[in-house]
Amino acid sequence: MKNHHRLLLGLVLGAAAGLIGHEYAGWLPLQLSVRYVLEPLGQIFLRLIFMVVVPMVVSGLILGVFQLSSHHGLARVARRTLLFTLLASSASVAIGITLVNIAEPGVGVEIPQSGETTAVGGIRRNAEQAKPIEQTLLDIIPKNPFATASQALEGEMLALMFFSLVFGAALATITAGKASRWVELLEESYTASLVVVDWAMRLAPLAVFALVFQSTFKFGHHILVSLGFYVAVVVGGLLLQQALVYSALLKTFTQRSPLAFFRDCREVYLYAFATASSNATLPRSLELAERDLAIKPEIARFVLTIGSTANQNGTALFEGITVLFLAQVYGVDLSMAEQVRVVMMAVLAGIGTAGVPGGSLPLIMILTQQVGIPAEGMGLILGVDRFLDMCRTTLNVSGDLVIAALVDQPEPAEAE
Ligand code: ASP
Repeated sequence: MKNHHRLLLGLVLGAAAGLIGHEYAGWLPLQLSVRYVLEPLGQIFLRLIFMVVVPMVVSGLILGVFQLSSHHGLARVARRTLLFTLLASSASVAIGITLVNIAEPGVGVEIPQSGETTAVGGIRRNAEQAKPIEQTLLDIIPKNPFATASQALEGEMLALMFFSLVFGAALATITAGKASRWVELLEESYTASLVVVDWAMRLAPLAVFALVFQSTFKFGHHILVSLGFYVAVVVGGLLLQQALVYSALLKTFTQRSPLAFFRDCREVYLYAFATASSNATLPRSLELAERDLAIKPEIARFVLTIGSTANQNGTALFEGITVLFLAQVYGVDLSMAEQVRVVMMAVLAGIGTAGVPGGSLPLIMILTQQVGIPAEGMGLILGVDRFLDMCRTTLNVSGDLVIAALVDQPEPAEAE
């Protein structure tokens, strides 16, 4: 049985057992088993992933930005790629955040009276702790990146991301395309972090059982209805990004017909959907971009290779929706400033996410942690994640191809 089938099984069994448990919630032996067996089990899994988040985010983001801004011979291409990546990513997060605020898939789940919001490490947050927006923006620039790294899980993640971003851009200016030991080291740390995540994922089916059990035990069947609604909102958001944003970008910046473009990409979409990995889809998208979309090979190679790790619009959209959905479920009231922080982190997370199945999970855990969402919320998400991963990967790959087409277009001055 594949791991994602086991995860689904964990979700179904955990939900069923939790629903039965919900009816006998006052029974002491049951309460004790939740407290001393299921809660620790879920926490062990979550902590294993949290453990590698800092090295993973720092190395992933530095490498992503380094790749986007190096290649001196391709300065114009790199500049345009970076610009369109940020544009497409911001649009996707904006769509996600707007949809989840309108549809409110997580509202209406009844929170038990004791509804505490205890995240891993015992962080608690509430609206009173929310900072004014100007302070939130200022705090993005860290005074000391080492102190920031040690506080990353306690709310300093965005500042750590900002440092990595600036450092990656600076590194690109001094290496001038030469092999750099820094880059090798970062690549290895990134890969090693992914290996640890992979190890932790072996525990995931049991952890999902434990985490979902806790959610349905606490909230009853309402949580499952909300979960279905959440899945629909994510899929709707991805479709909107494709139909509105990508079509508008293609229409505005190229002479291509969006419909014909999407039709040409069908085969690659299917491949991305099936593998849930932008990296695994890369050889196919390269072939299609050069053969069917007639994009210049040097541009296709540059944009698609980098895009498969650094341009994840679907992931960014999914992350924004997920954080706000879980905040709604657990009654975590996010101030405007905190929502802005979520948006910025989701955009950056789209750049720092690996193009592999489940690549965004460590980051989504961090985002939820940052705003004080209880850790067991992750169990719900993990259970349906494979399907959402297939959908968001398709959009990630579609975004890479669209950006390659945009970058391939001569700038107005050159066209004359
Ligand atoms: N699976 C995604 C990709 O490869 C990344 C993620 O969102 O987990 O593009």
